Amino acid sequence: MTLIDNHMPTADIQALDAAHHLHPFTDGAALNALGARVITRADGVMLTDSEGNEYLDGMAGLWCVNIGYGRKELADVAAAQMQQLPYYNTFFQTTHPPVVALAAKLAELAPGDLNHVFFANSGSEANDTNIRMVRHYWAAQGKPDKKVIISRNNAYHGSTLGASSLGGMSGMHAQGGMVPDISHIDQPYWYGEGGDMDAEAFGLERARLLEAEIARLGEENVAAFIAEPVQGAGAVIIPPASYWPEIQRICDAHDILLIADEVICGFGRTGSWFGSQTFGIRPDIMTTAKGLSSGYIPIAASIVSDKVADGINKGGDFNHGYTYSGHPVACAVALENLRILEEENIVGHVADVAAPYLQEKWSKLAGHPLVGEARCVGLMGALELTPDKSTRAKFKDGGAAGLICRTHCFDGGLVMRATGDTMIIAPPLVITPAEIDTLIERATDALDKTYEDLKAQGIV
Ligand SMILES: *Cc1c(COP(=O)(O)O)cnc(C)c1O
Repeated sequence: MTLIDNHMPTADIQALDAAHHLHPFTDGAALNALGARVITRADGVMLTDSEGNEYLDGMAGLWCVNIGYGRKELADVAAAQMQQLPYYNTFFQTTHPPVVALAAKLAELAPGDLNHVFFANSGSEANDTNIRMVRHYWAAQGKPDKKVIISRNNAYHGSTLGASSLGGMSGMHAQGGMVPDISHIDQPYWYGEGGDMDAEAFGLERARLLEAEIARLGEENVAAFIAEPVQGAGAVIIPPASYWPEIQRICDAHDILLIADEVICGFGRTGSWFGSQTFGIRPDIMTTAKGLSSGYIPIAASIVSDKVADGINKGGDFNHGYTYSGHPVACAVALENLRILEEENIVGHVADVAAPYLQEKWSKLAGHPLVGEARCVGLMGALELTPDKSTRAKFKDGGAAGLICRTHCFDGGLVMRATGDTMIIAPPLVITPAEIDTLIERATDALDKTYEDLKAQGIV
């Protein structure tokens, strides 16, 4: 068996990494000078690096390892499926048992009449599928002009050209350009953009930007609105309660399809199976990925309503698909992941145990002199670092405080991500109250050390 050697000296691994491996979302020259951290194994909520240091993974990898690391059942299912049927496609009038079983399971778990599934290998690919599917849907209804998709600034929908165009990250648009017929409205980010407004009034105002944008473009030209129930990569932006009901009303009133990008929120992250349930959204399409397999293997799914499935079936061939759409090994692993989520009542653990416990402890961090807001929903949370709590001021040198804090977190055995000067967490859903205590202790310690550093630099 070819097992990758975990016991090469760290410096050798780092040298090979620098010589040959191009990292995503990374300044390569800066990383090569520093040397990458080498993660070699993981179990439960803990990671181990090549030097034997342990970290509590406050990010569940990239928001995906919902059931935690080290579940041998998934490895066993993958090995068994590879021996029985390692690959077959679902093009050309064929199917296979794992893809059928997973599609049926997702139809059962998904709310409402979201009963039909198109598979992809990543959230980005699934959102590319959605772009082509909603445009094909409207063309099949005799409305080929209904093709503009409205999204939001600071949204994240993936990294392919289509998905990055849907997203609202200007740094991504600047590299490689955008596909046409996508427009963006402002986000419901009260802490950062709400000023003196009441949060609920602000939520309504931001939702009504959608209605204004539909009017500007002409309803006859708009295919869909896409949004994450809670923006993840944008820095865990939890919309005011007024936001989603108004968005739903507007989509209904103007015959616009609603796409909920559940790549992070799906499979328990917010304390329900889907973020759409937590926020009372009735999407026509849900994008799912990450937690669908707990990250053990790449797989993604666009889960669509009866209306959308019937609509595209009226249009003849849907000229779209990936070689690995519904890959049998990925489907088998995803099914096993869903079995564990369901049978071990992990979503219930989030709702009844872990999220209320985190909420109580996390909200206390707002008392720290550096923290302007501590917000969380389910098992995703954010801390807004600020030089002045009373005014929610931003640091002049945006992002520097976040990086200092992130480094202190790593040094203290905690993975917490920095988005600018907002620190974010999304731990594995199986995290226990005792492990949450550890997370909070290490986060507090990192905040204290960051505060000392910023004081020494005269920044706070
Ligand atoms: C991660 C993410 C994606 C992209 O998924 P990939 O598997 O990285 O392509 C899309 N949408 C959201 C909300 C995400 O968080």
